[in-house]
Amino acid sequence: MVLKGTIMDLLKKEIPLDEESLFLGRDSNVGLVIVDVINGFCTVGAGNLAPTQHNEQISVMVKESARLAGEFCSRKWPIFAFMDSHHPDIPEPPYPPHCIIGTDESRLVPALQWLESEPCATLRPKDCINGFVGSIEKDGSNVFVDWVKEKQIKIILVVGICTDICVFDFVASTLSARNHGLLPPLEEVVVYSSGCATFDLPHDVARGIKGALAHPQELMHHVGLHMARGRGAKVVSEVSFDA
Ligand SMILES: [Zn+2]
Repeated sequence: MVLKGTIMDLLKKEIPLDEESLFLGRDSNVGLVIVDVINGFCTVGAGNLAPTQHNEQISVMVKESARLAGEFCSRKWPIFAFMDSHHPDIPEPPYPPHCIIGTDESRLVPALQWLESEPCATLRPKDCINGFVGSIEKDGSNVFVDWVKEKQIKIILVVGICTDICVFDFVASTLSARNHGLLPPLEEVVVYSSGCATFDLPHDVARGIKGALAHPQELMHHVGLHMARGRGAKVVSEVSFDA
């Protein structure tokens, strides 16, 4: 759904993103975090929470995530990829069943499946929205925190889906954890706007679905980025690398 120009124009004027650009030099201590770029959320017709038709914002996000993953791996820089994965008997309210463990839904999209056998990538299945929480093990340790410490990461670059849900929750929790002193030497959390996307459920469609909340894509994507920025993340519209 494309919102009437006036609404988005007003939003961009009232809560501007003032996006920056990120340059990554040869010895940047940077890690790429990919949030849920899996079939169940990104591939047309792949499940209850997958797009039902081609969606430009999601396609661009997948393409940009794969491009960055390639750039990172070619430099042997670390990648951490979350994959929403649920036990068939444990629901995740308020969502319908999705991304059941072992199905194609909970697998990375085809453009990223090469990460499954890539030494620079750490893959983390999670059974809740917030990847920071989903990284907690039974013994209280946190796989994501350990990854930051082990790789000595100072900057994380975050991409994925949904901008205002899984991406935002992860970013907000990570910033809190950093400020609480749990994530040394992490300094900066950067969100790449074209590397993020959210789903589209316009009000006129949502009101016909019991229990559904309206979720206009362009608007919620913008608000999600704005809120990430409000929590202390840097939002960038461009990522470039040392040749
Ligand atoms: Zn889920």
